[in-house]
Amino acid sequence: MKNALWPLFLVLAAAGLASLASSLRGPIEIVWNAEPRQIAPAAAVFGVAGLVSLGLLAGFVLTWARQAPARARARADKRLIAGLAAVSAGDTAEAGKRLAQARAQGTPLLAGLLAAQTALAEGRPGDAAGAYTALTNDPDTKLIGLRGLLTLALRSGDIEGGRSLVARVRKLAPKAPWASEAAFDLAIKASDWQGALEGVTHASKARLLAPETGARRRAVLLAAQALGAEANGQHGEALKHATAALKLEPGLVPAAALAARETARTGHAKRAQEIVTRAWTVSPHPDLAMSLAGFMGSQAEAALRALTQLQMVHPETRLLTAALALRAGQPEEALAAVAPLKAGLPTARTARVLSEIAAAKGDAAGARAWADRAADARRDAVWRCEACAHEARDWAPVCPACGAFDRLAWVSAGPGALDAGSKPADGRALYRLPGPPPAKPVPERPAGPAPSGPRLVSLRPPDDPGPVASEDELFRKSAPPAPL
Ligand SMILES: [Zn+2]
Repeated sequence: MKNALWPLFLVLAAAGLASLASSLRGPIEIVWNAEPRQIAPAAAVFGVAGLVSLGLLAGFVLTWARQAPARARARADKRLIAGLAAVSAGDTAEAGKRLAQARAQGTPLLAGLLAAQTALAEGRPGDAAGAYTALTNDPDTKLIGLRGLLTLALRSGDIEGGRSLVARVRKLAPKAPWASEAAFDLAIKASDWQGALEGVTHASKARLLAPETGARRRAVLLAAQALGAEANGQHGEALKHATAALKLEPGLVPAAALAARETARTGHAKRAQEIVTRAWTVSPHPDLAMSLAGFMGSQAEAALRALTQLQMVHPETRLLTAALALRAGQPEEALAAVAPLKAGLPTARTARVLSEIAAAKGDAAGARAWADRAADARRDAVWRCEACAHEARDWAPVCPACGAFDRLAWVSAGPGALDAGSKPADGRALYRLPGPPPAKPVPERPAGPAPSGPRLVSLRPPDDPGPVASEDELFRKSAPPAPL
């Protein structure tokens, strides 16, 4: 718009000057070198206009020349940006072309960044490290270079190198959130739970972590420390860490099960029961019920009944309720408890419980049908990595397959996921409690002799591979011959 008005302005100015020149009468006298001279009015007007125009033109040329380096830098930056975009898109050839153009126009430091990224995209970590190292030599790009080197150290698992880089970054930028995150990742890779915990505390104090993220990380790290201590026979330490974890995350099942185990170990069964109850209120889980059954001895049944009064519509509570009803010889109550789980595609555990119920009612054909259905039923909840979908039998602070921190979640499989014999950890716990024997035994699942007290036993006979039976555990007096 501004440029479009220029011709109009020039035309108007020329017309104005012409009008001014024509309105003047007689010659104009000027003094040049101390001598008076006379010139025509039009010549005077256009002479002055010409001098002003020349001045303006000279100013424009000077300004244009002064801005030339900035324009060159902008063009180079544009090429660098195009090169970085090409790297992001995976077009390393285009990135290389842009890099050469940018280098030809200067900006060698930022060109180094593009060179590093191109090398990374082309799988040349050595060249990338060289380019990042070059960036660390200039104060303006030192942090960019250190960040790149830190990323490379994390990728290659160079824990010591990474830690040294983090120390260098912290001197330059103590509050860089990415350095804090990298320090945490390095500690996790080294299974240094205490180091990771200290890092989380530091990051939380510096407000680099959201409070809920900090609390969750602390809880998981404390649970990891508790499991490690328990494995080393340091029971006091294990209980201390697990208790601290539960204060932050009351529903953290592995911490609750461990805290209950260790508390019961010290002879405080009632207190251990309270731990399980609190955790069940947040996250009903078979490990909690199994843990309770394990340490409550003769009061196990009453303790489990108390548990079924919490989270009553949760599938886990329904399965436990059905088990207790079966033990009491009340298959109709058991059926009422699991009836909502029959809708749609029942899981393998639900199908097995329904088989037990049918057997208890004397319906051998129904028991067989549900037992068969359990073989290809929808899979039950399992510890699954949210990053790589790896399934693990036991919870762990990091995924054993991909190393991701706190990504193992107790989740059920999708509606299309069927129970397959080769898959682990399905049908984790099938509750079956001591009680009157079923009216007719479950087909192909012969009952064994009844031991004297409650204990955890395997559901299947040793010679029955079963679809997921290797993962099955149950709690009952009347048990098959192979105790766990
Ligand atoms: Zn994973």
